[in-house]
Amino acid sequence: MALRVGIIGGGQLARMMIAPAVELGLDVRVLAEEPGMSAALAATAVGDYRSPDTVLAFAREVDVITFDHEHVPQDVLAALVGAGVRVHPGPDALAVAQDKLVLRHRMAELGAPQPEWAAVADEAELQDFLDAHGGRAVVKTPRGGYDGKGVRVVSAASQAQDWFATLAEDARGGQLLVEELVDFSRELAQQVARRPSGDVAVYPVVETVQRDGVCAEVIAPAPRAEGRLARAAAELGVQIAEGLGVTGMLAVELFETADERILVNELAMRPHNSGHWTQDGAVTSQFEQHLRAVLDLPLGTPDAAAPWTAMINILGGPANGGLGERFAPAMAEHPRAKIHTYGKAPRPGRKVGHVNVAGDDLDDVVYEARAAAAYFSD
Ligand code: ADP
Repeated sequence: MALRVGIIGGGQLARMMIAPAVELGLDVRVLAEEPGMSAALAATAVGDYRSPDTVLAFAREVDVITFDHEHVPQDVLAALVGAGVRVHPGPDALAVAQDKLVLRHRMAELGAPQPEWAAVADEAELQDFLDAHGGRAVVKTPRGGYDGKGVRVVSAASQAQDWFATLAEDARGGQLLVEELVDFSRELAQQVARRPSGDVAVYPVVETVQRDGVCAEVIAPAPRAEGRLARAAAELGVQIAEGLGVTGMLAVELFETADERILVNELAMRPHNSGHWTQDGAVTSQFEQHLRAVLDLPLGTPDAAAPWTAMINILGGPANGGLGERFAPAMAEHPRAKIHTYGKAPRPGRKVGHVNVAGDDLDDVVYEARAAAAYFSD
């Protein structure tokens, strides 16, 4: 009988796991938040991932549970583990990806380099941090942020007043995370796959470009990163994967500073936008690798298959007409470009697809991937 993988969450990351699952002959099932989501290509149940009963019923039909996002609450994860379900990544690892304050505490315990930070409960504490860090800092809501939502640069404590007010309404109380405003020269991402039995596979470190808090472009491998920087990122990725007991794909988002340090920004324990290039530029894509890892199968080679790969996100999409209407001219002009779309309706700023181009010349692949992606926006 085919190995059965259950994915909680019906977004594009689940969708992109379906292709290698089909190729391998795995039986993949999705628990989607609503009908008609990106991953509804596979056998899909619709239900609330916050409901233990719903998730347990879904889990009974599969051999292993994994995720397209990190929002499944800890009580639901505990119910799964308590019922003997194989869950990868497990609840303890996921807790670190669910809460940026937990992340900062755990990175400190592991001795991983990170921005200076503090947990602040009110405006006075935030002001103290600002005063000690040159008057500007980055405030973050610990939970539920994504694509830059829940991240704010402030130069006065009053600029986080609304977030403190929301905390005050929460009976459990709480704190915000404040970090030094890192003067980074660029952002990098290091991906590592880890099996439950402990083997790891380390991808080349990549450069990521964010616009308005959203990933716009990825270059793999990161230019000018051979040698010391690539080794430091790889070692840090493995240290974090092992230290937290991550199973499946781990992405470590990093800042590179002008004085050549790397600092941990945040973690994702699933396939990640910074790894979409692997679909067309690595021997083993992150989506296949995640499936292999959560099933505790031997990992595939993570190496790049071409000297350079550029990944350009399609953000928003065309105002009129679907993405499919743009295929013909984009494909005619750029036969080397690999176009991926997610079956999502275009909406301003929304990630609806991406384009990968792999080849021998860095400038050339970046130019061509940008040019092909441009066909999909107005
Ligand atoms: P999200 O969870 O929304 O992805 P992140 O914590 O990754 O939020 O922050 C989004 C972006 O904001 C980062 O990619 C980076 O460009 C910027 N950013 C976040 N933290 C800092 C910081 N401490 N210093 C400078 N820029 C930051």
